[in-house]
Order: sequence, then C-alpha cells, then structure tokens
Amino acid sequence: MTHNTPEFDVIARHFTRPAPNAVLGVGDDSALVQLSRGMELATSVDTMVSGTHFFPDVDPENLGHKALAVNLSDMAAMGAMPYWALLALTLPKVDHDWLAAFAKGFFDLAEEFGVSLIGGDTTRGPLTLTVTIMGEVPAGAALRRGGAKVGNDIWVSGFIGDAALAVAHRHGKLVLEEADYREAVMRLYEPTPRVPLGQALRGLATAAIDVSDGLLADLGHICKLSGVGATVELASIPLSPIAAKHAGTDAGRSAIVAGGDDYELCFTAHPNSRESIQDLTRMLDVPLTRIGQVKRGKGVSLLGPDGKAVKIDGRGFDHFSAP
Ligand code: ADP
Ligand code: MG
Repeated sequence: MTHNTPEFDVIARHFTRPAPNAVLGVGDDSALVQLSRGMELATSVDTMVSGTHFFPDVDPENLGHKALAVNLSDMAAMGAMPYWALLALTLPKVDHDWLAAFAKGFFDLAEEFGVSLIGGDTTRGPLTLTVTIMGEVPAGAALRRGGAKVGNDIWVSGFIGDAALAVAHRHGKLVLEEADYREAVMRLYEPTPRVPLGQALRGLATAAIDVSDGLLADLGHICKLSGVGATVELASIPLSPIAAKHAGTDAGRSAIVAGGDDYELCFTAHPNSRESIQDLTRMLDVPLTRIGQVKRGKGVSLLGPDGKAVKIDGRGFDHFSAP
C-alpha cells in the first residue's frame, strides 16, 4: 500500500506522535519497547462498541479520553505503571474533524500519564475502538483479584454511581435535574483513572479491581477469585451530592450499586493498614472509604441501615446475559 491512501492519511495525520518511552513507535511492522530489570509486563485490552459502550452521539474528544481511560484504569487496578498503548480503530468513514477531536481526547490523557501510542490498526466498519495498554509492575507486587482474606476491610475510591445514574437517565429509568445530568455524564465520559492510587496501594491492598461493571459485580469478582464472601453496608457507600439525591429510590439504588462505569478502585486490606490508607487520601487527594468487610463464604451481601440484606435488581453488566 502506498502512503497517500486514506488509511495512511488517518494514521499520519492523527495518530503518529513521538513515542519517547519506546525504542520504536508507529510506522514499522511492530513497535519495540525495552522492559526495565526486575519488572513484569502488565498488559490488557479493552474494546468499546458504539451503541453498547457509548451513545453513538458521544463527543469524540470525550470518547478519545474514555477509550484510553478505561485501559489506564486496568493498569491502576493492578498497581502497574502504564507506558505504552496500541489503538485499533474501526471507522464507518473518514471524518478528519471527528478524528482530530478523538485524537485530542486520547493524547491529552496519554500525556497526563506519560503514555506513548506506539501502534495500532485502522479498518473500516461499525465504529469500534480497541486499546491495548502495556505497563510495568515490580515482579511479584501486582494487585491481583485473588488475595482478599477473611476479616479484611473493603474500600472504594472516589464516589460511586454518578456514571450509572447518567446512563439510567438516558434510558428513562430515572430523571436527573439538567445540571446534575451534565455533571454526571462527564463522570461517564471522562472518568479519572486512579493510576497513582493503584501504585500506592502495592503492599497495602490484598486485592483490587476497578469498578467498571458495577460495584457489587466487581467486588463479586474479588470474592470469587479469593474464595471468600463479603458484606457491604449500603449507607457507607460514598456518594456525590447528585447520587445522594437518588439513593432513596429503587432505580437510583440499583444504578449506584449495580451500575458501572465509575472506574474507581475497589480493594481489600488488613485492618492494620487503615491509617496508611487514610494517609493516601491526603497525599493523593482521593477520597477513600471503608464500605464493608470480607467474610467467610461466598458472594456479596448488601446490608441496609437495619443490618438486614437489601435486594437489588440487576447485579452488573454482562454482555451475554439474557435481557
Ligand atoms: P500492518 O500492515 O503491518 O498491519 P498497518 O498498515 O496496519 O500495518 O499500520 C502501519 C503502522 O501504523 C503500524 O506501525 C501500525 O502500528 C500503525 N497504526 C495503524 N493504525 C494505527 C492507529 N489507529 N493508531 C496508531 N498507530 C496505528
Ligand atoms: Mg494493520
């Protein structure tokens, strides 16, 4: 293929930037990176499909941010340092204004976290974005899902539920005031990946996950892999002022505990680590809240203010579950 085709035009105009932390970036058959001694390669991939993961009318700059943010969030959840990303783009057509805005959202966030785009693929078809992220974590120190122990505390960062409330509003399941919707939808489109927090939790957290599919579902993944159960106190889940207005309704409550897309970290830690974890709140300026306890047994129970189990509709997002 010669270099003046639309495909190469897209790559050259929008996705070829210096990659200071790579040996070789965009342009060859493969990128090259040098791993540091004593480090493991942490890598993961996430696909976002139009209509499934984002509304088709999404602002392309927000989308560029989000496509990378969800991957940075996976690095955060492992306690890894993200360095390199690959972007596979499937586009219905070439729209340079759209691509320029998408690239701005992507590269602004990449620069903030010192990540280089080192390669990708560009194809035609229904709008789909796949980002592969790679980073490093000291050998043996990654935060896995399987390390939670009975008696550990359960923590979450930030506030839970705003992104899912925006989705519930779009789907007509509840109604947010206009200003609240505008704020909540930014949490949906421009989540803040908790990368510094993830790294700071190495040696403190016994298990960690990022909240992408829903708080209860994601905590359930920790429980399953750790062979434990968990209780979460509904009243202790940290809520923004917006979410607090809806926590009393069934639809609001289910968005908060079972909706996803917050990209906060949920982690477990020994009670002896409480002070060190609270210190991180100040050092990193991220709220960290204890929401429950790891128990013997299986599954996650949600407890109401009276200590009784609360039933919730829906337990998180699953692409292949029956509607
Ligand atoms: P190949 O034919 O080996 O698949 P391509 O022609 O698809 O290579 O891509 C040429 C170069 O451009 C490669 O280095 C590839 O990694 C890079 N590339 C293609 N699409 C993108 C993209 N959307 N973002 C970043 N790099 C890309
Ligand atoms: Mg290719």
